Amino acid sequence: MNIILLGPPGAGKGTQARILMDTIGFVQLSTGDMLRAAVAAGTEVGKKAKAVMEAGQLVSDEIVIGVVSDRLDEPDTKAGVIFDGFPRTAAQAEALDRLMAEKGLTLDAVVSMEVDDELLVDRVSGRYTCAGCGEGYHDRHKQPAKAGVCDSCGGTEFNRRADDNAETVRARLEAYHFETAPLIDYYTGTGKLRMVDGMAEIDEVTRSIRKALGQD
Ligand code: AMP
Repeated sequence: MNIILLGPPGAGKGTQARILMDTIGFVQLSTGDMLRAAVAAGTEVGKKAKAVMEAGQLVSDEIVIGVVSDRLDEPDTKAGVIFDGFPRTAAQAEALDRLMAEKGLTLDAVVSMEVDDELLVDRVSGRYTCAGCGEGYHDRHKQPAKAGVCDSCGGTEFNRRADDNAETVRARLEAYHFETAPLIDYYTGTGKLRMVDGMAEIDEVTRSIRKALGQD
């Protein structure tokens, strides 16, 4: 099964993708994670993406589509993919249709996670992840049980994303409303769109997504 998680920054796409990966066995394909890895490694793609990401704007379709196409050629994706943060523009959605057809893959569902804008700024500014296992935390909403120690892996190093500050979040939200939200109409037209309330508790959102995918 191949699915897209659609939603604004801070909607919980990454959190839910990780849960679905652990429970259903999908592979998470997060273009944000892949681009951050490219920036950290100083690759050509990373050099082109760095300033754009820091400004909260969208990296060019050409770069992102190339990264996704290469990733889909890796054998682990045959188990099923959750696209997290991709597609984000009409051109990317059309390219994904083409790529999947070429590679003999089908898109089964698109889950749109609905969250009000005012909640998103609060959610994004304050979040951080364990450097060891990627478990997500938040200054105000989800601290580790023992301060400074990851609940999942016991790691003591944590990362904060450079673009998770109130100012950049607003630019990212603007890019979402302008470029990505129109994809809701695009996928409604394919009959594959499912809406879930992204403002509920994490477990509740997972249940809604599983139900929308016929996996409950
Ligand atoms: P994310 O981790 O999904 O919030 O993405 C972080 C940043 O990476 C975004 O603000 C963009 O600058 C860039 N990015 C990630 N995915 C895409 C995409 N599909 N298209 C364009 N830019 C992207």
